[in-house]
Amino acid sequence: MRRKMTPFEKAERAAKRAARRTEAEAKAEASRRYYENVRSIVASGVCPLCGAGLRRNRALLGWWQCEQYGAPEWRKNPEVPDCSWQGFTCPM
Ligand SMILES: [Zn+2]
Repeated sequence: MRRKMTPFEKAERAAKRAARRTEAEAKAEASRRYYENVRSIVASGVCPLCGAGLRRNRALLGWWQCEQYGAPEWRKNPEVPDCSWQGFTCPM
């Protein structure tokens, strides 16, 4: 038979639970801010790193990339250096 928890153990367990909840809430908030930020960038239509346009990558829902992302054959202008910006407007 399991023994009853002491008041100390109960308090410790409650504190751990509260800490986990706070951590989960912080993660949810950070994630919400991330998607909000990417959505505002997409709405602006301008890459925050290089100022080029943006395009959607239809391979995954909500995936947006700089027009200058990737290998020269994928870039809008292969003469201009590549850019690494990409983001998601919603969770995958
Ligand atoms: Zn860019």
